[in-house]
Amino acid sequence: MDDCIFCKIARGEIPSNKVYEDDQCVAFYDLNPMAKVHVLIIPKAHIANVLDISTENSAVISHIFEVIAKIAKDLGLEDGFRVVSNCNEYAGQSVFHLHFHILGGQKLSLTMC
Ligand code: AMP
Ligand code: ZN
Repeated sequence: MDDCIFCKIARGEIPSNKVYEDDQCVAFYDLNPMAKVHVLIIPKAHIANVLDISTENSAVISHIFEVIAKIAKDLGLEDGFRVVSNCNEYAGQSVFHLHFHILGGQKLSLTMC
């Protein structure tokens, strides 16, 4: 995906403030934080959103959640945090490369929308 901004971050072609990286995924601080701690974690391989997760590509999803647990501990989020993935128009997805928002560092509102 030549013009996908998160593919470019995954390839190191545009800068990001990384908190974690391995061969399958990368995590970096969101440019427009919605909480005191706001990190995004993405698979390096392009997947558009949750609707495109399948048997063929889902191994990276369990890996990402293992990494989320590590990042949450490393960033001191054990009191609580939220993991969110916006999927398609109604959820306000703005970057069409699968990503999970890790939100924490404060008490979070319980509103759903
Ligand atoms: P979503 O609206 O769920 O698709 O989330 C996309 C997120 O990506 C937003 O929270 C943006 O602030 C964030 N974002 C977009 N471009 C960048 C970037 N270059 N570096 C870090 N975060 C970004
Ligand atoms: Zn991409």
